Amino acid sequence: MKIAVIGAGISGLAAARELVHAGHEVLVFEKSGGYGGRLATRYAGDDKNQKIDHGVPFFTAQTKEFKSLLEDLYSKDTLTTWEGNFAHRDAEGEITFKENETPYYIAKDGMNSVGKYLGRNLDIRFNYKVGGLTHIGENRRKKRSWMLNFPTALTESADAVVIAAPARQAYAILNTTIDEIETLKMVREIDEVNYESQFSYLAGYSDVEMPEWSALECEDDIIAWISNESTKREGLAKIFVVHTTNEFAKKYMHADRDEVHSLISDRLTELLGGWAAMPEWDQLHFWKYSRAINPLPHDYMEIRGNDTPLALVGSYMKGNRVEDAYLSGLKLGQHWAEQFSGK
Ligand SMILES: Cc1cc2nc3c(=O)[nH]c(=O)nc-3n(C[C@H](O)[C@H](O)[C@H](O)COP(=O)(O)OP(=O)(O)OC[C@H]3O[C@@H](n4cnc5c(N)ncnc54)[C@H](O)[C@@H]3O)c2cc1C
Repeated sequence: MKIAVIGAGISGLAAARELVHAGHEVLVFEKSGGYGGRLATRYAGDDKNQKIDHGVPFFTAQTKEFKSLLEDLYSKDTLTTWEGNFAHRDAEGEITFKENETPYYIAKDGMNSVGKYLGRNLDIRFNYKVGGLTHIGENRRKKRSWMLNFPTALTESADAVVIAAPARQAYAILNTTIDEIETLKMVREIDEVNYESQFSYLAGYSDVEMPEWSALECEDDIIAWISNESTKREGLAKIFVVHTTNEFAKKYMHADRDEVHSLISDRLTELLGGWAAMPEWDQLHFWKYSRAINPLPHDYMEIRGNDTPLALVGSYMKGNRVEDAYLSGLKLGQHWAEQFSGK
């Protein structure tokens, strides 16, 4: 069966990998230029050796399925744990250090290398944004195909489609198929999923007073979390990644980026000291959909009927974490591998 997977985040890659193992012809379409989705990595300026995690700072693992993937990543020298001092700053400004209850996993070469590992044997088309989905053919007795539409004149057909994008982006794709009754039910359900947003502010320094902590969680502040990235990887320069709260991001999402930049930089300077106001370089990124607030209670969603199948996967199924994304994609992949012959 020819299966199109939309999205090369962890859920899409996990599903695609299972389906390829089952013998299906799988094509992954990814709107950005790289692997991993919100497991995202950027370079510091032009220096390709300085990799910074501006999305997920670390992840945790609870299930045997995800731990098994982490063992593979360890065996390929891709994964490690973040051995740092993790601190909490309360509303009065008091800082306390805390013990990790569970290991904090990070990728040695930047978080997107987890996506690169999962996607290494897959056929992935980068910079392909799927704009909509339609059915080809009207004859109900005949098997129909899906047609993926792209903003260019290009189209691609598939016997089955997996949409592995955040619920709001999946909604935008599915909304083009609402003449299909079954799809309409899905659209209504995912329309209820809301997301937190966040700004990530990245700043690199040469002359800093390094704090005692590797990461600082802030309470009652516009800043929710600061990562001292240099404690993650050897050879990494003095770099901090700041995540704002959802409330701040929602309030300033349409504001002028210079204003947002100043607000975050000023607050960082109050928290860390005057040197924080003078980075050698800095960048600002906006995450419109960082984590689902009200996930759906399914492992994945699918429609089958007489038509060619369609499924939705992603971390918004049963959670909002990297592990939830992996499990959603894996379970759908295993389910379809059982249901449909790949030969
Ligand atoms: C700032 C931040 C902090 C986080 N912190 C944590 C944490 O501490 N721990 C944790 O476990 N998780 C954390 N998360 C959440 C975690 O990153 C996500 O839950 C998980 O990575 C989502 O994976 P996914 O495959 O469901 O979706 P995504 O990673 O979003 O992948 C979806 C992919 O689909 C692509 N796409 C979307 N629309 C289209 C289209 N029309 N055509 C083609 N491609 C498309 C996107 O470009 C993207 O690559 C954080 C996320 C952010 C942003």
